[in-house]
Amino acid sequence: MKDCIFCKIVSGEIPCFKIYEDDFVLAFLDIENDAYGHTLVISKKHYESLVTCDGTTLSRVFDAVKKIGNHYVKNCGFDGFNVFNNTSAAAAQSVMHFHVHIIPRKENDNIIVSNRMIGKGEFNEADGKLESLTICKNTEKTELEQVCEKLRMPQEKVVLDDENCVVLYTDGACSGNPGAGGWAAILSHKGVVKTLSGGEKDTTNNRMELLGVINGLEATKKGETVKVFSDSAYVVNAFNQNWIENWQRKGWHSASGGEVLNKELWLKLVALVKERDVEFNKVKGHSDNALNNRCDALAREEVAKLQE
Ligand code: AMP
Ligand code: ZN
Repeated sequence: MKDCIFCKIVSGEIPCFKIYEDDFVLAFLDIENDAYGHTLVISKKHYESLVTCDGTTLSRVFDAVKKIGNHYVKNCGFDGFNVFNNTSAAAAQSVMHFHVHIIPRKENDNIIVSNRMIGKGEFNEADGKLESLTICKNTEKTELEQVCEKLRMPQEKVVLDDENCVVLYTDGACSGNPGAGGWAAILSHKGVVKTLSGGEKDTTNNRMELLGVINGLEATKKGETVKVFSDSAYVVNAFNQNWIENWQRKGWHSASGGEVLNKELWLKLVALVKERDVEFNKVKGHSDNALNNRCDALAREEVAKLQE
C-alpha cells in the first residue's frame, strides 16, 4: 500500500535490519532499539491489523514467530521471549500494517514488557553468547547492525542474487480464461528488490505471463544481463525451443498456419530481449520456490482487486 512504511520495507524502498524472510513474512529489528533484539514479524502483504489478516497469512506469521523465537533461545543465548500485538490505535498500534512483536528475554534482565518498553537488557557477558549493548556502542557499527548480525537467521534461499545480473521472477494469473487477470514481477539486483504488479479485466493467462516478463524487463536497463525465472512453459519454451525464430520465419504464423496469438506482446518482448542479455529459466509453479510463490500471490491479488 502506498505510504505504508512497512510496505516500503517489504518492497526494499526503506532498509531494515532483516532477521528472517520467507514468501509470506518478513522479520526485522524494531528501530526503537528499546529492548535487545526487539523484533517485528510482519506479513508481506498489507493488512491493516491482525483482525483483517487472512487465515493463511496469519498462520504463516505465527509459524515465523515460533521459528524466530526458537532460534533466539536455541542459538542466541536467550532464555525465552515475549510475543505481543497491538490491534488498533486504542491499543497503541502505531503502524497500521499487521505485525507481531517479539522481545527476547534473559532471566533477570529487568525488562518490563509493555507498549513502551522499560530497560534494554544488559546481558551477562560471561555466557559468551551475547555481548552487552555497551560493547556494541564502542564499535563503528550501529547498535542495531551489531544486534542484527548476532540474531539474524540463516537465510533460506529466497533471493537468487548475483553481482553481475538482475534476477527477475515473474508470474501471471487469470480467473477464467479469458477473464480478470494479474501479473507480477520481482526484480533483485545487489540486494535491492523491486516488486511490480498489475491487472487487466478481460485477458488470458498467457497474456498475463507475457506481461509479467515484459514489465519486469522494462524495469531493467538496456545492455544488462537478466536471468528470468518463470513457471510458464509458453514463455520459456518460446525462447529456449526456437518457437520465436520459427514464427518469425513464417511471418508470425504458427505451425498450424494461423496468426500467432498475442503477436503484439511477443514483438514487444522480443525487442526488449534483443537489447539485453536475457536467460530464460523454467521453474516449477506452485511448489516451494519462494519468489515464484510470491509472484503468484501478487498476481492473484491483482485479480482479486479487479473482482472487488
Ligand atoms: P506498534 O506500536 O505495535 O504499531 O509497533 C510499531 C513498531 O514499529 C514500533 O515499535 C516502532 O518502533 C516500529 N517502527 C516504526 N518504523 C520502523 C522502521 N522503519 N523500522 C523498524 N521499525 C519501525
Ligand atoms: Zn503496509
